This record gives sequence, C-alpha cells and structure tokens, in this order.
Amino acid sequence: MKIMFLAAEAAPFFKVGGLGDVAGSLPQSLLAHKDVDDVRLVLPLHSPYDLSSYELELICEFSVIHPDGKVDAKVYQHNIDELIVYFIDGEPVANHPSVYTADPANDGNKYVFFSLAALELAKTLKWQPDIVHGNDWHAAPAVYALKIQNDPFFKNTKTIITVHNLPYLGKGAEGALAAFGLPGSTDETLPIWARYMPLPLGLSAADKITAVSSGYADEILTQEYGSGLHEFLGVRKNQLSGILNGLNMDYWDPKTDRQIHNYSTSTLDERIENKKKLQTELGFGINRQIPLISVISRMDHQKGIDLIIRALRSLMDKSWRAVIHGSGDPEIEERVRRLCREFPDRIQAKLNYDDDLPHRIYAGSDMILIPSRYEPCGMTQMIAMRYGCIPIARATGGLRDTIQDYGVDKNTATGFLFETASAKELSARIRKGLGVYGDEEAWRRLQSNGMTQDFSWGDSTEKYVQLYKELITL
Ligand code: ADP
Repeated sequence: MKIMFLAAEAAPFFKVGGLGDVAGSLPQSLLAHKDVDDVRLVLPLHSPYDLSSYELELICEFSVIHPDGKVDAKVYQHNIDELIVYFIDGEPVANHPSVYTADPANDGNKYVFFSLAALELAKTLKWQPDIVHGNDWHAAPAVYALKIQNDPFFKNTKTIITVHNLPYLGKGAEGALAAFGLPGSTDETLPIWARYMPLPLGLSAADKITAVSSGYADEILTQEYGSGLHEFLGVRKNQLSGILNGLNMDYWDPKTDRQIHNYSTSTLDERIENKKKLQTELGFGINRQIPLISVISRMDHQKGIDLIIRALRSLMDKSWRAVIHGSGDPEIEERVRRLCREFPDRIQAKLNYDDDLPHRIYAGSDMILIPSRYEPCGMTQMIAMRYGCIPIARATGGLRDTIQDYGVDKNTATGFLFETASAKELSARIRKGLGVYGDEEAWRRLQSNGMTQDFSWGDSTEKYVQLYKELITL
C-alpha cells in the first residue's frame, strides 16, 4: 500500500497548530503498520523556516502547467528513517512570511501550486500512490484535480480528505484555482458559492472524507458547525467518518521530555519542580499552593480567548495565577496585554510562538483553559492530560470525545467540561476546578487518570488503514 500524504505543516519542520502535530506523527505511525509499504509526506518548503539542520537533497525539477506559462518547481527530499519527506519549492511558495498569511489570494496561489506540484511530482518519479491523502483546504486542489483530470497515471489512485478545521474553506483561492486551470465544480449538491473554493471542491471529489474526531464528524452535519456545507455533507454522509487524532507519545512524554524535570504517575511529587521553575520564569514568587492556570493557544476567535479574559476578571475573589501563551489575532493579543497590565501580579502573557515554552507550561501549570467555540479534535488537552495538567474545556468536538468530566464520575474523570461557550459557564467551571484543586487526593486522581490515558495513534492508524483498504478494493 502506497500513500501520498499532503499537508501544509508538519512538526518538526514547521508547526503552527495541531495539523503540524498530526502530519508530524501520523505518517510514521502508518508506515509502521504491517499492511502499509510506503508513505511519503509532501510539504511546501516554507522559506522563513530554517531547515539547515536537516539534510535536504534536490531530487527533481519540473514545471506545473499554468495557462500563462509554466511555473517551475523544485523538490527536495529528506528521510526520517523509512519515511520519505518531500519539500516543494517554487516561486508561489517562496517569500511568504509564514505558513499561513493574512492574504488569502497569495495563500491560494501557494497552495494550489503546492497541490498540483505534488501530483506532478508523483508522475515525475513514476511513483503511483494507491491513496492520495490530503489534509484541509491546502491539499484539496490535489484531490479535486485528480478527480477531474482523469489522468491515466492516477487511474488506480483513490483519495481521502481529512478535515482539521472546516471553516477554513480556502476562500480567496478562487483566482488561483482558475489561474492554474482548475474549473469550478459541476456538483449540484454543492452550494453555488462553494463551487470555486478549494475545500468544498476537495470534499466533493474525495472518495472518503474524515474529520478528526467522531464528535466533529457529527457536528459538521449541523447548521451550527457546518460552515454552510451541512446539507452538502449530509449528502456525502456515507463517505464521512470521524477518526480521532493521536499524539506523538514519545515526543510528549513527561518521563523523558528533556525540556522539563521528569516525572510520572509514580513520582508525581516531582512535578512541583516544574511549577517552581515556571513560577520563577514568569516572575511570580514560588508558591506550591496557589493554583497556576494556563492557556496555550492560537489567539483566535475560535479559541474563546475573550471568554477567558472575562472569566478571569470574574474570579478575582479567588487565589490563582495565570499564564497566557500564544500568538495570532493582534486585537486579541492586545486585549490579553491589557489584562496583564491590569493584574501584573496574577497574570503573565507570552505572546509569541515558541516550540519549547509549551513543554514547561504543560509540566508546570495545574490547569489549562480551552473554552473553544468549536474544536475539531484539539491536541492541547491531550498533551495537557499526559502531563498531569487538568483541562477545563468546552464540551465540543474532540474536547468532548477525549475529556471525561468530573461532574459525571469523579473516579474516572480527567478534567472539567462545560456546555455553552459563555464566560459565565467557563468561570463557574474554573471555580469548581479551584475547589477540587484544594482536595489533594481528588486532584491526584484527576492527574493520574489523565496521565494514563492512551492517546497514541494505535487505534486511529488502524482505522485509517481500514479505510485505505476499503478504497483500494473498490
Ligand atoms: P489548533 O490546531 O486549532 O491550533 P490544537 O489544540 O489542535 O489547536 O493544537 C495546538 C498545538 O499547537 C499544540 O501542540 C499546542 O501546544 C501548540 N501551540 C499552540 N500555541 C502555541 C505557541 N504559541 N507556541 C508553541 N506551540 C503552540
């Protein structure tokens, strides 16, 4: 079984959010499966990132057809053990300040080129994948092109598209699709406005659609979460399934993580060393008792940072300190800055992207807030639980699927859930959490329940392989 796996980001090369975690670990896990022979991960070569510590070999050059003239592509290869990783370079992917930018037309040009270059790469290498597995809108044009171009080279290739974040439809890429010669869809079940956007085109063309949790797979069939595509997705319901993301359990392991003072469920007392260090790093005095609340998140409306700000303000009668780490929307960042200026002794912010700091926060803080308005899967809560940091999260999508609520069964609980995306409910749940934190035994149980959950790729890899097999035998 030969799989071509396309994504915009993958750890450790470039990571912005959960997709980077997934594309940085699922391909390896697939490759380790007995029925999978060959997995090749294809990424754009994002120029601002320094890849000089990886050996990259230029393996081929070709052109992607463009009605205004061909666009040149260069492909570099790097191997992670058996896994082959291809990096696609060319004018449309170069000179972007980041993996994603605020310029949809430019991003559109980059990812349409990337998608088409990935297909061209397979042809140049004469490597016929059984499955092209595209992730999100960035790879959707590949799935669409494969379907409509009917190239005999791909006559036995089947496609899957995985939805990590439905509202990102690739709006703004319409011009790029047309420029690269990809017409709109003739699928009449697609709303008219969606017939020129990458993700809807991919969803319409793919042989199978997966969402990154079964909760989210159900939610996107509803008006509230369907981004205008719920009825269309309803038509494709038999091709849609939810497969929960797994975690790179070796990378995220408090027993071996080199960035922290190590601990496990049997040495939980040691965890306090991380809290002390983090308190010092944040400029808070060392104090075992005062709970340390954390946030590690993109600063985005989706993530409910505004709810966090309001909830924290309503909890000034309680004793706690907080650290907010993340970057994104400048307006949200400014609101966080203002909050910190008001309460400098209680709240510190680190408004940047930093691959290392989250390790220290997961290991050193007591609870983490995740009041997402929607959450396709969420990696943050899984990492937090693995590190004994208790999630207080909105019951939606993958958060609902992975966190067991204290209110349901204290003995098996791994965190605290609340239903409505409101500051009031979040505040009430934090208040509950602060109360339970005072009960050392109950808190320990929450921590060890979370730390012993199996968030590995095992089951989910099996599900993907079954899906691939189903397609191949069609
Ligand atoms: P999303 O993909 O929507 O951003 P997830 O919860 O699925 O949310 O994944 C977020 C991932 O990004 C986690 O691994 C988290 O630790 C990481 N992360 C979030 N913000 C930052 C940041 N500022 N610096 C480094 N890593 C971050």
